[in-house]
Amino acid sequence: MNGPASPRVAVIGAGIVGISCALHLQRLGASVTLIDRREPGDEAAASYGNGGVLARCAVVPVATPGILRKAPAMLFGADGPLFLRWSYLPRLLPWLVPYLRSSSTKSVEHIARNLAPLLFDSVDEHRALAHGTAAARWVRSCEYAYLYESREAYERDAFAWGLRREHGFEWRTIAGDAVREFDPALSPKYRLAVILQDHGMIADPGAYVGDLANGFAAAGGKILLANVKHMTAGEDGVALQTDGDDIEADRVIVAAGAWSQFLAAKFGANVPLESERGYHLELLSANKRPAVPVMDAARKFVATPMDGALRLAGVVEFGGLDAPASKAPQDLLLRGAKAMLPGLEYDATRSWMGHRPAPSDSLPVIGPAPASRRIFFAYGHHHVGMTAGPKTGRIVAQHVMGLQQNVDLDAFRCDRFG
Ligand SMILES: Cc1cc2nc3c(=O)[nH]c(=O)nc-3n(C[C@H](O)[C@H](O)[C@H](O)COP(=O)(O)OP(=O)(O)OC[C@H]3O[C@@H](n4cnc5c(N)ncnc54)[C@H](O)[C@@H]3O)c2cc1C
Repeated sequence: MNGPASPRVAVIGAGIVGISCALHLQRLGASVTLIDRREPGDEAAASYGNGGVLARCAVVPVATPGILRKAPAMLFGADGPLFLRWSYLPRLLPWLVPYLRSSSTKSVEHIARNLAPLLFDSVDEHRALAHGTAAARWVRSCEYAYLYESREAYERDAFAWGLRREHGFEWRTIAGDAVREFDPALSPKYRLAVILQDHGMIADPGAYVGDLANGFAAAGGKILLANVKHMTAGEDGVALQTDGDDIEADRVIVAAGAWSQFLAAKFGANVPLESERGYHLELLSANKRPAVPVMDAARKFVATPMDGALRLAGVVEFGGLDAPASKAPQDLLLRGAKAMLPGLEYDATRSWMGHRPAPSDSLPVIGPAPASRRIFFAYGHHHVGMTAGPKTGRIVAQHVMGLQQNVDLDAFRCDRFG
């Protein structure tokens, strides 16, 4: 006798969140179609160009108490890591107001409490996801270091470090010349480093996503290159209209990163979502590179020793999904790299801009759509999507396949803004 047919699940978006959902669903027996308008691993996705850090310690959002006081220096200071296209401000305001409200101590504690379970075992989650695929070669365990120019600067971040400690993170601090003993490539201007163990990195995020997708296809998954324009959910299934083939599915996962709201709003999602534009600059054949990913705590960029290049990634720019990349953030990253690694030389540079999917309260959207039990959301991972993608995929797959799970999704509801 045949068992029940495997559910047909369509996953929209082949970034790290979408491919994680697709692989976990496939492994639980679903018949999965992964849909993206670009090849998985393509540079249009945030998952291509990020810093590659499996930052399990990143439970603290960017907006913390005192953000309003710090914002002018971040925006107008010579090396400030915040950029705004002023013509975009009127469109940004409906997001900016709740974003600033979410920087209160109470909100930040709530964010950290709910991000921690998504992040804490990220290296293991990536290894499990990539197991049996060519993607396994890109997952590395390593330390992760925050660099400060003075002890006072470190102490000014006491709130964030206190929260991390509360959530079980441990680290060692080294000071003075010990920073250069830790990594001789670093500038002597860094007088204190916080070194976190049990972290990790993805040595080429674009290739990693591409290899995961190849593994999914090799195991029988379908990949459809198309732009999903519209969805209609009925009693019997969901119809997806695309600019290629239209398809029918029993369940649909919306994992379309910064573009998700366009599909999700109609089904009851009311979380303000913006693109928090970020940049990377890659230096090819750089003569200096840190041994592990390091974060310049003042300039807020990470330098990651990727396979093939040194990647500087960071910067926050508000300017929407359509405006072209700006030059100033790229210049800032280059100045930062030269200040971080004295004597730095390289053959060539490659630059990139991408869209972090940023909900105004810095928590992702993970859960069913209020308007249809057939639709499930998985987007809005902001600064931590590379880290949290596999765990999110596991949660989504277990939920969709009706399995018991022990993660409380209440904080991730898509209708949490009332
Ligand atoms: C500069 C920078 C540095 C970062 N550094 C880190 C880091 O070190 N560690 C970390 O954990 N995170 C980091 N992040 C964040 C991380 O990259 C993102 O949170 C994560 O990649 C989001 O993944 P995603 O799958 O949700 O979205 P994406 O990777 O953007 O994928 C969404 C996909 O959906 C597709 N899509 C959208 N709409 C449609 C549609 N209608 N039809 C078909 N396809 C569609 C898009 O083509 C895209 O491929 C960084 C981000 C940036 C920008």
